[in-house]
This record gives sequence, C-alpha cells and structure tokens, in this order.
Amino acid sequence: MKTILGKIHLKWCKDCNVPVLDKKCGICENDTFDVKLTPPADARPAFKEDIVMINNILKNQFGVEEDIFKNKIVLINKIPGNDYMKEIIIDGVVFGILKYDEESEKNEEKNRWSIIPSVEGARRIINAGGNKKIIVIKEDVVPFILKKHASVLRPGVLYASEDIEKNDDVIILVGNENEERGEDYEKYKHEKNINLKDINVLGVGRARTNYNEIINSEKGMVAKVRHAETPKEANYLKETGNFEESINKMIEANENAISKFESNSVGFMRNTIKERTNKPPVVAYSGGKDSLVVLLLALKAFENEDIDFDVLFTDTNLEFPETLKNISDVEERYNINIIKAESNDFWEKLEEYGPPGRDYRWCSEVCKMKPLEKIINNRYPNGCLTFVGLRKYESMNRSKKPRIWKSPYIEKQMLSAPILNWSAMHVWIYLFKNNAPYNKLYEKCFDRVGCYMCPAMELGEIELIKKLYPELWKRWEDFLIDYAKRNNLDDEWVRSGWRWKYGKKKIKN
Ligand SMILES: [Zn+2]
Repeated sequence: MKTILGKIHLKWCKDCNVPVLDKKCGICENDTFDVKLTPPADARPAFKEDIVMINNILKNQFGVEEDIFKNKIVLINKIPGNDYMKEIIIDGVVFGILKYDEESEKNEEKNRWSIIPSVEGARRIINAGGNKKIIVIKEDVVPFILKKHASVLRPGVLYASEDIEKNDDVIILVGNENEERGEDYEKYKHEKNINLKDINVLGVGRARTNYNEIINSEKGMVAKVRHAETPKEANYLKETGNFEESINKMIEANENAISKFESNSVGFMRNTIKERTNKPPVVAYSGGKDSLVVLLLALKAFENEDIDFDVLFTDTNLEFPETLKNISDVEERYNINIIKAESNDFWEKLEEYGPPGRDYRWCSEVCKMKPLEKIINNRYPNGCLTFVGLRKYESMNRSKKPRIWKSPYIEKQMLSAPILNWSAMHVWIYLFKNNAPYNKLYEKCFDRVGCYMCPAMELGEIELIKKLYPELWKRWEDFLIDYAKRNNLDDEWVRSGWRWKYGKKKIKN
C-alpha cells in the first residue's frame, strides 16, 4: 500500500508539538519525524466534539477523569475497511484505536464504543488516573513477556480490577518492588490506593477470562499480551494551547508546505483551462471539505485571469441540514451563486429498486448523475471541464487515477482533480489558513459528509446520526422495517445487513 502512495507525508515537530507536512518545521526549522499510521494515513484534526467523545469513552472504560488531550493537537486517522476504527494521534504517536464494536453482544450502546490503547496510550491513561481494566503482575514474570512473548498467567498476577470481563482490552502493569506483599493476593486487592504511574506500564492485552475466574483460580491464562515494552515514562511533548491557538501554530509550521501545494494546484488549473481544453470550467461543490478547497483554488486561479466559472451543487434531498446551511454560507462568503441540480426521485425509485447498497449504488446515478447531466446538457452544449475534490489518499481505488479524465456517466463532462495529491491534513490546514466556511458537520465527529442514509457508512457513524438527527434516521428506519416485513428479512438486516445487496464482504470504499 505504501508503495502506491509514496513516502509518509505526515510528520511531526517534537519541539513545537505540531503535525508538519514537510521535512522541516516551519516554526523552529528543526527536522521532523514520521508519524506511523495505518495507510492510506489520511488523518484529520480532531475537533472539540471528537475529544469529548474520546474522553467519555476513556472514563467509561478505564475510569479516566482527566482530559489527557488538553491543549494539544489531536489527529484522527480512519482505518479503511468495513468497521468503524480510527487511530487517535497525540504528541506524534498513536494513542490507540477508537472502535465501534458491531458484533458485540453488549446491550448498552455505550459499551459498544471502546478504545484499544497502544502501550504509549496506556501509559497516559494510567498517569491520568485510569484505574479500571488493569492487571498488575509480578516483576519476575516481566522477562518472559518481553523476551518470550508469554501470556499473563494466573500465578504471575498480583492484582486485577473488578471490572474485567472476558475479551476486554486490559492494561498490564508491573507491581512496585516495595509491594512484595502482593504475593498475598487478597491483601493487594483491597489496597485502596495502589499508586501506579506510567513507568509501571508494561503493555496492553486482551483478557482471556473475567475477574471472578481470575481470583478464584490458581492456574490458567489471564490475558494475552498484544504489545509490551520495557517500562518507561510516556513521551509527553509540550502543550500548544487551546484549539484555536493550536490550529494557528499548525498553520505557521506548515506555511511552506501548503503554499507549495496551493501554487502547484492553481498552476495546474490555469494550465488545464488555458492550454489543454477550450471547455468552460465548472467547480463541483458538494458541501464537503475537499470541494471547498477546489472552490478556493478556482477563485485564486481564475479571478484575476478574467476566466468565469460556474459552481454546481447536486442536492439529493438526502442532505444533512448542515450541508444546506453550508451552501448558503459559501455563497454569501465568496459572493457567488451556486447552481443547484436537484433530485426528488429517491423515495419513489426506492420502492422499485429496494434499498441502495455498497454493492448496489443505483442512488448515485438517480440522485446525482441524472440531475447533473440535465444541467450540463442545458448549460454547456459543447461540454465542460469539471474540477472535483477527488484525492488519492481517500481511497486505495483512486490512487492510480489520472488528473484529467472523461466522465464515465456524463458524455459532455470532462473531469479534473486538482487536489489529487493532497492529504486530508493539507486540506484542513488550507481551510483553517483561509478561515474558510467549512461544513459544521465535521465538528460533530464525522469524517465525511454525504447522504444521511448512505450505505457506505459504518454502524458507528449510523449511531452518531441516530443520536444527532433522530427524525431523519426514523424516516429511513421506518422504510427498512417495512421493507423487511414485506420481504421476510430479519432484525439484523434492518440494523446492519441492508447496506449490502449481495451480502457483506470486504469491499474497499
Ligand atoms: Zn518546530
């Protein structure tokens, strides 16, 4: 995967504690280090609501009351695949994975959300007062775990927190030397103030049994170790200030990198219009962050060149309220008139075709392509060149796309991707730098904007929608329930299965 996407673009300055998209930091000019993320590593900044959500999960899961992320830049990196899994990055390292457990039999919704901490994350959790899901082991078993990748066995355990259930993610700590009385398990267990620090953290693992079985047995496996490292202090970097202050530092540190990307894309757009085609330029604006960058770049590329361009938005009538608000915000801010192609066919076609799926995307043709084609055929009888916000980091499938190509759906449309090489961090820093009116949906824990019932969503995203827009979701769910009744489908189909027509399989979005 890395070979397709090239070198690691996301780096970090350890002195300024900001993400940097270049070899050197724009503030202190020191060398930056690589941030090791799961490819395609299209990380984005975490907003306040993301942090609130993460802190709530940490409190529920590990008993952490403190805000571990206060006054620092935190990034979120969505891991591709069918599950809701996101890496959380702080101080340039992965803190852990935020996960929504689709298969869990845990009834309570809040228990489906969890964080699988890295060892570095576990150190921070313990230092912030985390006291749940922990296992303390004897010092003399440490070498077996570090060198022989042994599991934690019952005789090596000094203490286990009462909340541990089978398959829980647990933090494994090494007991203090002066707590030899830990040999007496009962005594250690009732110790009220076990005072453990990050330097006691050995690793993270998964419980193989529950608390009662741990204390009532003398043998057997207690936890499988996922990762273990020689205990040491967490690598804390300095605070960068509140959200706004941190963002400003990030902009400053990336001034050069962003300018380079901007001038490259602006040059490409001018060149495409002036030399490679005589078709009128159009910007396809979706209400999303990527197309907002394309719009800003078009304003920059064409305004002084006296080149007119249209901005098109396709309203599927399945949009979030924030997206519609964003369309008018953008019109007002840039004093432009966005041309709207509207589709009203979804609910009618739904009866005919059944629910759209990841492997059955009739919705895109009906709700987007058809209304767009109509407008394009009317307005540009000789065709147009549409600039879109497509980026290769968004999807493995898109990583080999050329920068200009013919639309496979609309005959009169050429497509062009001026920000093909931008990562989500380039996009966000550019938007922050220009104080651009981005869609507020991004501040509500969403990585992307689109239709509110898109089958490409993971269940975790659907949970967020149910909570934020219960009436929108109800209309869709009512349809699913009714459709299930008519077609003899079960509750699991209504909950999850409707997103595939031909059955769940691993499809890269
Ligand atoms: Zn720096």
